[in-house]
Amino acid sequence: MISKKIMLRFPKETSDKPFTSDLSRKYNLQFNIMSAEIFPRKEGHLIIELSGNEKDFENGIDYLKSNGVNIQFIEESITLDENRCYHCGFCLPVCPTDALIIKDKNTMKIELNKEECIACGHCVKVCPVKAIELSEFA
Ligand code: SF4
Ligand code: SF4
Repeated sequence: MISKKIMLRFPKETSDKPFTSDLSRKYNLQFNIMSAEIFPRKEGHLIIELSGNEKDFENGIDYLKSNGVNIQFIEESITLDENRCYHCGFCLPVCPTDALIIKDKNTMKIELNKEECIACGHCVKVCPVKAIELSEFA
């Protein structure tokens, strides 16, 4: 079993195709939609958590790519620069998923749990020293 959060970007010529139902019907994959911005006959994007067995997962991803859908794994999109972050905590309250946390109350250091991130970009906007980078927002 594999489960990953993924950003899907649809070119406008593919925006009305039933990709999500195909992932479920043809590839036995489960998905949760975490955010969506899709307009008829325009470009759109979806952030989903996609789960299933490894082979189905690979086939589903190949299916999307072969249909022109741009795919970005969220875990690979976000980074926290330890050298820049001075642990001010501004990013903590804006994170909707607790991907940014303080594990150790003694050091009060901010840590990033990439698996929980949904690439909303809120932390990127509030960080005063640009310690967080999200490639979709570059
Ligand atoms: S807002 Fe920036 S500097 Fe402050 S804790 Fe968060 S990542 Fe670090
Ligand atoms: S982009 Fe930042 S604020 Fe949004 S879920 Fe990820 S870590 Fe939290």
